[in-house]
Amino acid sequence: METLKYDVVVCGGGVAGIAAALAAARGGAKTCILEKEYALGGLATLGLIVIYLPLCDGTGVQMSAGISEELLKLSIKYGPGEIPKPWIREDATEGERAKERYRLQYNAASFMIAAEELLLSEGVGLFYDARVSNVVRDEDKITSVILEAKSGQVKVMGDAFIDATGDADICYLAGEKTIDDSENRRTGWYFSYDDKDLKLHGLTDPLYGNIPEGSRLYSGTKLEDISQHCIDGRKMILDHVLKSRAQGNKDIYPLLIPTFHGLRMTRRLAGTFEFSEDAHEGIWFEDAIGMIGNWKRRGPRYSIPYRAIKGVKNSNLFAVGRCCSADKSGWDLTRVIPTCAVTGEAAGIAAAMLALDGNEPEISKIQDSLKEDGVLLKPELFSTYDKIAAR
Ligand SMILES: Cc1cc2nc3c(=O)[nH]c(=O)nc-3n(C[C@H](O)[C@H](O)[C@H](O)COP(=O)(O)OP(=O)(O)OC[C@H]3O[C@@H](n4cnc5c(N)ncnc54)[C@H](O)[C@@H]3O)c2cc1C
Repeated sequence: METLKYDVVVCGGGVAGIAAALAAARGGAKTCILEKEYALGGLATLGLIVIYLPLCDGTGVQMSAGISEELLKLSIKYGPGEIPKPWIREDATEGERAKERYRLQYNAASFMIAAEELLLSEGVGLFYDARVSNVVRDEDKITSVILEAKSGQVKVMGDAFIDATGDADICYLAGEKTIDDSENRRTGWYFSYDDKDLKLHGLTDPLYGNIPEGSRLYSGTKLEDISQHCIDGRKMILDHVLKSRAQGNKDIYPLLIPTFHGLRMTRRLAGTFEFSEDAHEGIWFEDAIGMIGNWKRRGPRYSIPYRAIKGVKNSNLFAVGRCCSADKSGWDLTRVIPTCAVTGEAAGIAAAMLALDGNEPEISKIQDSLKEDGVLLKPELFSTYDKIAAR
């Protein structure tokens, strides 16, 4: 079997994987990304989810920075898209920043190209058409992953592994406890054109509460459900186009439809700690590796603990982005683009330290390195301090 060897192996090249690989490579580790599709970005590019949700808490205070902010800027490097003015002006007051959240809409193709260019310039090995299908373990460690390539199976050895598959594939294959979500709703994000206007339509059944009559819920890990979700999403798009035509917009047609699934929560790690929107608002965790706001509401502040991104049975495994450990409410915050970058960056830094040093890094060292890289870690913004030892 063909064999490759890296210090840090990032499985999946969505936003979380991009952030993880950037951080690991900058930390001095020989790093690669194994990606089953043919481009970077996952849901955030191929899935046409082109809204970078806020980096702020909605009261004018920035929560996420570091690579999360870098990727927001990168997403518009080749245009179009604009950073809201109060977040560009250094002398803007919190009051001015409270009026407009630090978020933007970008163009998927520009982001995809810019991300690839950046990762290559940082020396990250990029492998496309590379679906990880198995894991090899020795005692409490993963020693390699096996991917399916056109030439057959390829073994990729590594000292640390980051599960950025969105679906916790590596956690699942490596025997970690995982949780599936069987309540995904119908989605169909697409761009239409009518010879005048290009429009983004975020079609979806309601995110919460009852679904419309005739619709259904979908598991994010069952073959049949995933396939039906794709088919039903495209039906949703076609129905929308035909309805618009019937309402007088005769020239409208679907210009761009997703080439990725539109499932929000599929499978994630059940770690030693589950991050929760409901229970963890305003709590500073002693092992915090990043801060986030709440994209649904102005005001709440959260810190994400290191424990939420660490494998349990595998000492050299990290789970990031949609894969990290959270309950259903917390998942709704950990799954969004800025948070995916926050958890990805922290895992990348920790994985590089682990790979280069051979030992699990102390949390204070990870935090120092995150701060050096511009990540905001500010316990003073939180009302409650949670010490790990006291738990
Ligand atoms: C309908 C919908 C609307 C949303 N709206 C917003 C929004 O407005 N704003 C926002 O910020 N967020 C939004 N989100 C959430 C957000 O887009 C995603 O959750 C986020 O982009 C996920 O990033 P990720 O890197 O964790 O996972 P993904 O984007 O899923 O990336 C995972 C990558 O891993 C690859 N992969 C998977 N399995 C394997 C394997 N076995 N081997 C190799 N590669 C593999 C995939 O191909 C993919 O490239 C939305 C999501 C959905 C579904």
